[in-house]
Amino acid sequence: MKRVIIVLLMISSLLWSAQVTRAKWKSGEKFSSYLQSKHISLSLLKTLDELEEQVVGEIQGGQTFYELKDDKGTLLQALIPISSTMQIKLSKDTKSDKYRFSIVPIKFKDEKYFANVDISKNPWSDISKNTHNDKLTPQIKKALRNNAAKLQKGDNISFLYTQKTLVGYLHGNPTIHVIKITKGAKEQFIYVDDDGIGHKEPFETISYMTDSTRNTIFSKSTQTSFVGNGKFSLPVRNPRVTSPFSYGRYHPVLRIYRPHFGIDFGVKRGTPIMSIDNGIVVHVGWLGGYGKAIKIQHSDGYMSIYGHLSGFRTTVGDVARKGDIIGYSGNTGTSTGPHLHLGIYQNNSPIDPTSVIGKEGSIVDALIDKVTDVIGGEKVAQTKKIPIYNAEKYRDMLESYIKNKTPSYDWIKYESQRADAQLDENFQ
Ligand SMILES: [Zn+2]
Repeated sequence: MKRVIIVLLMISSLLWSAQVTRAKWKSGEKFSSYLQSKHISLSLLKTLDELEEQVVGEIQGGQTFYELKDDKGTLLQALIPISSTMQIKLSKDTKSDKYRFSIVPIKFKDEKYFANVDISKNPWSDISKNTHNDKLTPQIKKALRNNAAKLQKGDNISFLYTQKTLVGYLHGNPTIHVIKITKGAKEQFIYVDDDGIGHKEPFETISYMTDSTRNTIFSKSTQTSFVGNGKFSLPVRNPRVTSPFSYGRYHPVLRIYRPHFGIDFGVKRGTPIMSIDNGIVVHVGWLGGYGKAIKIQHSDGYMSIYGHLSGFRTTVGDVARKGDIIGYSGNTGTSTGPHLHLGIYQNNSPIDPTSVIGKEGSIVDALIDKVTDVIGGEKVAQTKKIPIYNAEKYRDMLESYIKNKTPSYDWIKYESQRADAQLDENFQ
């Protein structure tokens, strides 16, 4: 215990007088010349393995990176991002004075902030003046689209949002959670969904058509441009693949073997998920890292898995037909954002879904068949309310900030505090 305390004291005293600065990597600058400019021995390069050398060669000109220097200007640490999640860390060993090279995950901070803006001139310039975060305006505009009466002089807008920071600096776009607009005595809340779209109620309404036997009907407008060549149809409309199938390929940056037995589709929470073929539902419920999941057994030894769902519309033993809605997408299990994981197995071995789903026998054909099937049948418009994640909780948080007269978070005012190396995990 004592030793731990001493080490912590050493680290904090080392960082006490240190200063964090931010710079852009010069275009065409070699890592070796960067080391030379910092008076770091090039023998460091000999300690790199092949993969590390490869990574070093891929530092992009214009890339923002961070340096921690002592009061004499000596480099103590440098953090150079090499992807959206990983960074090179150069750090000076206090005992040997030698520098160490490592590749480590970037540790972003993901915190909630508040703004409360009286509109005196123009809402957008007022928001910018109060927050000094220019990335807010486009997101607020998107959330308010079609949802709020025009903001005018004398109105008030307050909102709660999450902003990522890296070493104290703004990183990426903010996520707006809830907005309150006050016009005189009139108050209105706007609840913002995963796609950044605002809603007047803490839920969004999705609509679909069913026939008298409650089978879903689609129109030709659901055609997709997904090009594949297989027997199965697509599980979602307008698919966008965000992560491909992979058999445990070695990841040079993460340094692990990481298989991905399926493909991920980027879809918003609550998107209807359809069975890719006729089959029997064999699992509905929690399935480890896949969260809420459905398994369907098809003919010829094929099985499909639909993971990270938010809700089900089928039960074990049901016969699912190609194109039937079986559930709704979500973010359950090991998942960092709403998406659908689709896994396809043949005789219990995972196969790449893109090799068996697609155009031929695709959803397009299946849907056109369906529409033909029900001509003359009764079509019924159905709606379903999907709650917006944490809508009430965020509204209550916003209300308490307003009640406590919390001022808007000013990104310039607190910049130096946020960039304090002692508070930043990346420098530990
Ligand atoms: Zn996946």
